[in-house]
Amino acid sequence: MNTAAPVNIEFVDLKAQYRALKRVIDGRIQRVLDHGQFIMGPEVGELEAKLATLTGAKHCITCASGTEALLIALMALDIKPGDEVITTPFTFIATAEVIVLLGAKPVYVDVEPDTCNLDASRLGAAITPRTRAIIPVSLYGQPADMDDVNAIAARHGVAVIEDAAQSFGARYKGCWSANLSTIGCTSFFPSKPLGCYGDGGAMFTNDERLANVAREIRIHGQSKRYVHTRIGLGGRMDTIQCAVVLGKLERFGWEIEQRARVGARYSRLLSEVAPGLQTLALRQDRTSVYAQYTVRLRERERVQRALQAAGIPTAVHYPIPIHRQPAYARLAEGVSMPVSERLAEEVMSLPMHPDLDTATQDRIVAQLRAAVLQ
Ligand SMILES: *Cc1c(COP(=O)(O)O)cnc(C)c1O
Repeated sequence: MNTAAPVNIEFVDLKAQYRALKRVIDGRIQRVLDHGQFIMGPEVGELEAKLATLTGAKHCITCASGTEALLIALMALDIKPGDEVITTPFTFIATAEVIVLLGAKPVYVDVEPDTCNLDASRLGAAITPRTRAIIPVSLYGQPADMDDVNAIAARHGVAVIEDAAQSFGARYKGCWSANLSTIGCTSFFPSKPLGCYGDGGAMFTNDERLANVAREIRIHGQSKRYVHTRIGLGGRMDTIQCAVVLGKLERFGWEIEQRARVGARYSRLLSEVAPGLQTLALRQDRTSVYAQYTVRLRERERVQRALQAAGIPTAVHYPIPIHRQPAYARLAEGVSMPVSERLAEEVMSLPMHPDLDTATQDRIVAQLRAAVLQ
């Protein structure tokens, strides 16, 4: 092997990010330890105000995780058993999980083969009189076709919840992902584009009534201390985790640009590797934060093994579409989603993070090229 290098390549390098932000993050955490308000401390409101300003959304409500954000959003919209909620089967399980948890029925719409996002041209056919909401997923960091989804939803009077867990920081026609629909939900899971050091998430909306309902649901449905006006849950984000995200905002602008640069460079370098490998498309009117840099290829397992042997970690997002998952197949009898099923067999994600330097990226691309051409 001629490109052998001693350093381990990280799939997501959170340690390099911490080294760059150590002083501000340590200081932020220390301040929480000193004031001792670990639940709903001042950092919670500070983060919500900063993220609302950043995205342009009137309201930001932090919560315990991205999953919780989706769940609270559906609860705030009063989704009930028997309701139908449309989403794609090619996403992280949480997107469909929250629908099923509320007793509603997930109705799947297949994705576009070149972006892996919801195919809006198929959306109209999936709408029924029971449809109450649509959850487009901005997968891998690129916003879905939100204008088309919003227009169809408006025609039928249904809400749109953008699952922006992977796309926080991306733009769609100049507007921030998570502020593109009725409610936008994101996740601060450590490896997401904006992450904390545990679990965390947030909802964004311009609808004051929905914001107030979501805030109450987040704290056991309480409108005043020990007065529970609705059914809620314990869905708060810890003060310390809010402090970490506040620290990370210090270079988030740079990270967004850096992610775009690294992603574009991958796409350029991989555009002509081999007929057996295809890059995904980035639409002209939007940007991606590349939560994952994902390609399509044949012989995925063989290529993954070759890369692993060369010290290059890869991952598959996601190997089984939701309508084929053991716990979900029963709710999707006879459902066929050919694009998602094919993508599940072909997608592979490469190391991707803002501190990925060009030499390491060149090494990844060279090894990938060698493996594909083998
Ligand atoms: C990560 C993720 C979630 C869930 O977020 P958590 O914070 O892990 O609960 C939901 N949807 C998508 C698309 C995700 O990638």
